[in-house]
Amino acid sequence: KVCLLGDFGVGKTSLVARYVRNTFSDSYLTTVGVKVDSKEVPLADGAVRKLVIWDIAGKSGLDALNMSYLRGASGLLLVADGTREATLRSAVDLLLQSRSLLPDAHAILLINKLDLVDRWEVAPATLVELRKSMTVIETSARQGDGVEQAFREMATRLHA
Ligand code: GDP
Ligand code: MG
Repeated sequence: KVCLLGDFGVGKTSLVARYVRNTFSDSYLTTVGVKVDSKEVPLADGAVRKLVIWDIAGKSGLDALNMSYLRGASGLLLVADGTREATLRSAVDLLLQSRSLLPDAHAILLINKLDLVDRWEVAPATLVELRKSMTVIETSARQGDGVEQAFREMATRLHA
């Protein structure tokens, strides 16, 4: 079980759609509650792991309901929008909050909207700093960059 967490509009639903169905839409449909998808991931050693992916409605803080959705997760994909620096702080806050419930979950930070890199507010130096403490993958749900890699990295870690 892998949960996506991050502010409204960072691209959580779009990343899942790109990964599971290889589709993208510009229209913004707010996720209500939670949506669950799954995909089998063939790994380098020939094993296959099934990722059950929970797309949780965006919120800066984790309320009791969203905390309950996290229960039993072994992986967390924290998602930020590179064009909005504040969403990066939210992602880090969400990680800290979820750590109380999931101290051992594998966490990967995704900085999405790489196709809009000209408009990114997240400075390269910030990324260098973050990479000292966690895995950071730059993604574009629109174009697909980094998306397969991000989920594969998670599946590989859960398998290890
Ligand atoms: P969520 O609230 O985190 O689930 O965000 P959504 O997946 O609903 O995406 C919010 C908006 O950002 C939508 O209009 C998407 O089309 C757009 N979006 C998502 N990912 C990308 C991306 O990688 N690049 C660009 N340019 N837009 C994106
Ligand atoms: Mg959504």
